[in-house]
Amino acid sequence: MTRGGGKRRTRSPARCRVCGKTLTDAGEMKLMRCDDCPCELDEALYGRLRDWRAERARQLGQPAYCVFTDKTLMAIAEAVPGTEGELAGIPGVGGRKLGRFGADVLALCAGEELVPAADGPSPDDLPEGGARTSGKSSEK
Ligand SMILES: [Zn+2]
Repeated sequence: MTRGGGKRRTRSPARCRVCGKTLTDAGEMKLMRCDDCPCELDEALYGRLRDWRAERARQLGQPAYCVFTDKTLMAIAEAVPGTEGELAGIPGVGGRKLGRFGADVLALCAGEELVPAADGPSPDDLPEGGARTSGKSSEK
């Protein structure tokens, strides 16, 4: 009934990696899956990428999406590229961004802890907890 079933063509359109449906929406093509298909992204990695992006954006004084968009980060967290070539193959990762952020992203994907270079001591370091109550009477 259906034509061409089972035959693989090199000129294949973007397909959902989850269900195999042909993708027509630009956003879905970026994700390489349907918007509503369950995603297989590495949530831990995605979270770290987002943290890293926020830090980067802050350093650059630019909005987060100027570093990478959410969809690009998701695609990275799904693909988990191991090389620059793989990273470059992810939609949204242009040559310029690859040069600027490629090493960081690959390090994150490799599971490395990326400690953003601190330009001097920060006055408001993250409270480790417990420090808040000091200095004030804890009596009720
Ligand atoms: Zn799908």
